[in-house]
Amino acid sequence: MPDDPRRRTPRTDAVLADARLDEPTRRLGPALVKRAVAEVLQRCREGALAPDEVVEAVLGSLPAGATSLRRVLNATGVVVHTNLGRAPLSPAAVDAVAVAAGATDVELDLGTGRRGRRGAGTLAALAAAVPVAGGVHVVNNGAAALALAACALTSATGGREVVVSRGELVEIGDGFRIPDLLESVGARLREVGTTNRVRLRDYADAVGPDTAFVLKVHPSNFRVEGFTSSVPVSVLSRAGLEVPVVADIGSGLLAPHPRLPGEPDAASALRAGADLVTASGDKLLGGPQCGLLLGRGDLVDALRRHPFARALRVDKLTLAALEATLTGPVPPVPGALARRPDDLLARARRLADKIAAEIGDGVARAVTTGGAVGGGGAPGVVLPSAGVSLPEDLAAPLRTGPVPVVGRVTGGRLLLDLLSVAEEDDDLLLDAVRRAHQRLGEG
Ligand SMILES: *Cc1c(COP(=O)(O)O)cnc(C)c1O
Repeated sequence: MPDDPRRRTPRTDAVLADARLDEPTRRLGPALVKRAVAEVLQRCREGALAPDEVVEAVLGSLPAGATSLRRVLNATGVVVHTNLGRAPLSPAAVDAVAVAAGATDVELDLGTGRRGRRGAGTLAALAAAVPVAGGVHVVNNGAAALALAACALTSATGGREVVVSRGELVEIGDGFRIPDLLESVGARLREVGTTNRVRLRDYADAVGPDTAFVLKVHPSNFRVEGFTSSVPVSVLSRAGLEVPVVADIGSGLLAPHPRLPGEPDAASALRAGADLVTASGDKLLGGPQCGLLLGRGDLVDALRRHPFARALRVDKLTLAALEATLTGPVPPVPGALARRPDDLLARARRLADKIAAEIGDGVARAVTTGGAVGGGGAPGVVLPSAGVSLPEDLAAPLRTGPVPVVGRVTGGRLLLDLLSVAEEDDDLLLDAVRRAHQRLGEG
């Protein structure tokens, strides 16, 4: 049968030898190109594609890069969205990552040619950002910072117990819980108070010879209201308990933020007398995933030298991105927190007008809305925002388009909240809506 598509299908080597595949092969590597070729040739064998269409089809099906991760526009209005990778990096941090990606002087003093302190520039930047901290250290994430504190302080003090309020036994997400984390590194929990109330007296009664430290955990993803009381760091640290007070502030604010008055920050916690503060780098600070440890110099030194610290060490990419976050231009997360509702509404109106002009009246409406910080902090705080309300059936095509857009479906409408979208991405958003609308019409 001369017309059998299986016989007319070109050979894999012949397709791979096509000059049009040279550049993608250099950029993506041969394995990804071969996989795309194999898939396209299968379609050709099945008769779904003509032999002379094969190379174009391969070019069309190649991934944009050698990672399955895609760039996504976060139009959820949740500024720190855990499922979308938490804080987007600033362009300066992205550049810093690219520079550090090759061979870099992360542990070498180029002046003397000798070994240098790893990440010295980053640590200096962190110390400069929080001058009240006697020492600073960086590990892989907030959980690692807390685990290292528990490990090192239980070894240093000989005590095993961590005294913590029952109202602060937080589940941080994805099923992980702070009490389990502490126990996993050999600490024993000494719970005090009740879910809603704890007094200084409860802590004082619990502290004894076996206490390693008192822990304050910021309830960063929930709020308890009503008949409640807790003991602030300032009171705990001045009560003469004679054990270190560790504050897990979570969100990574280094100084108070005017829009988030209830959110704890590192400098204030240290000034209030905390011996050690732990926090995440990729929440409100707006940096890469990492864990910050700030506090008394002797404690931070003990942490840094503890054998477990080596298992939590951050890589050069993180150090580079964190330094640029601290010293460079305002990163996207603090930038989003600074957006004014009026400006957001003006952007929403411009977008809605363009959608009306290009797609049709009545598709889009500019609306005022409320955004949120997200799992990264400030639970219950509504950030006044604005966005574009669209028909709900645009949600799926927007999510699966060439630049995926994730919005929020509410009340039978899809809301694209601009609080979490950079203004320079408005055109990209418009283009995505245009394409999604087109696909919907075709489908
Ligand atoms: C987010 C958070 C953590 C965990 O930090 P990761 O960086 O996600 O490991 C721990 N404690 C609090 C209070 C948090 O908010």
